[in-house]
Amino acid sequence: MKIKLIQPAMLPRPMDTQLKTRMAPSLALLTLANLTPETHEIVIENENVETLNFDDPADLVAITVTVDVMNRAAEISKAFRARGIPVIAGGIHITSDPESAADSFDAICIGMAERVWPIILKDAERKTLKKTYHDKDNLPAGDIASPGYDCVDPDKYLYTNIITSSRGCPFKCDFCYNSCQHAEKVFLNRPVEDVLRDIAALKTRHIMFIDDNFIGNPAWTKHFISAIKPLKLKWSAAVSSNIVDMPDLLDDMRDTGCKSLFIGFESINSAAVGAVHKTQNCVSNYERLVEALHNRGIMVNASFVFGLDEDDQTVFENTLEWIVRNKIETVTSHILTPYPGTKLHDAFMNQNRITDFNLSHYNTSHVVYKPKNMTPEELYSGYLWIYKEVYSFKNIFKRLPRHKRQWIPYLAFNLFYRKFGKLTEWLCLKLTFNTIGKLFRRLAYLTK
Ligand code: SF4
Repeated sequence: MKIKLIQPAMLPRPMDTQLKTRMAPSLALLTLANLTPETHEIVIENENVETLNFDDPADLVAITVTVDVMNRAAEISKAFRARGIPVIAGGIHITSDPESAADSFDAICIGMAERVWPIILKDAERKTLKKTYHDKDNLPAGDIASPGYDCVDPDKYLYTNIITSSRGCPFKCDFCYNSCQHAEKVFLNRPVEDVLRDIAALKTRHIMFIDDNFIGNPAWTKHFISAIKPLKLKWSAAVSSNIVDMPDLLDDMRDTGCKSLFIGFESINSAAVGAVHKTQNCVSNYERLVEALHNRGIMVNASFVFGLDEDDQTVFENTLEWIVRNKIETVTSHILTPYPGTKLHDAFMNQNRITDFNLSHYNTSHVVYKPKNMTPEELYSGYLWIYKEVYSFKNIFKRLPRHKRQWIPYLAFNLFYRKFGKLTEWLCLKLTFNTIGKLFRRLAYLTK
């Protein structure tokens, strides 16, 4: 069969350039490609980086779906189905809200694909696709497939050096996909040798671990990073803030080449964090955590969510003051968004607070619900305001890292990714995204 694997186009947020939409390929599609026997032909099309070819003859189309691209996925499905080509959808949105997505596709895949994809292919060949494929049992971690990195055209992307060492997260914050019914029991660490094999396949010493939570099992992480020490990597990852109480692990991270960590602080208001059951976050420890990271030369990418029920209009100025005072190197901000299937979505539905059901707006840059202590307009303008302020020249200067050796990567990211992203996007289109990505990587790790 000729099988087309598709990633639909995402809608950029107001501050996004193509640096965001062309950030990295879909690991889900690369994993499906690797799971597909060579007797089949695979074509991967990512609408974020290329135009979809609807006239290309195919025997099966598979689409990976996040909530914000659900509408586009349904349009793509309709176009292929009109040509008589069966379409199956999977991915995190399908897993978290399968019922409402099902009608848009011939079949859906809930949960992990490793064990059901071979069955889907056989059924597609026999033209006996079922409506739903669902692997309800947790996969043995050793069965997690590696992505087919050789299917990627690196010139189309800023970064291709992405790896996961785990799936899922042991925590279940109310707004996160990990609180969904079909995801809530999932947390798997891959065998160390499998992750090392993926690192070798990437042929670079600069690695971005894009796990939901790289320290979901701290004992495993400690073991894993002792295994990567001889590789002399320079790496980044996303971790939960309870790492503050793991100084030995932080030392090991520093010693094995960790250069930056993404951390979901979400709010500097304890009550707001508690209300969404982010139980591992202790706001009174945040400054100690930032200090611990900075003392080890690790930069911080802090993620915040605005519009939590305890937030009022003061949240924006208070958070900005905290970010600047603590010299946070990079900030990612979101408007609270009730993804269908999450505990937050259930709660807002019960409270009759969801005002916008257009899933294309569920990309954390729209207000789709009634906030409690401010108007939707105040929340939206505060969200735009804090982005502008964090990346103003004045505040970029005030946030300069203590260690001068971090100034180049810090300024490269703040100026050429955030502040002058449009200029960098233009350069990427003139050169290639990969060329600029390599430059960013070199600069990002130019700290020792
Ligand atoms: S810690 Fe992060 S990844 Fe884990 S459930 Fe909470 S928001 Fe999701």
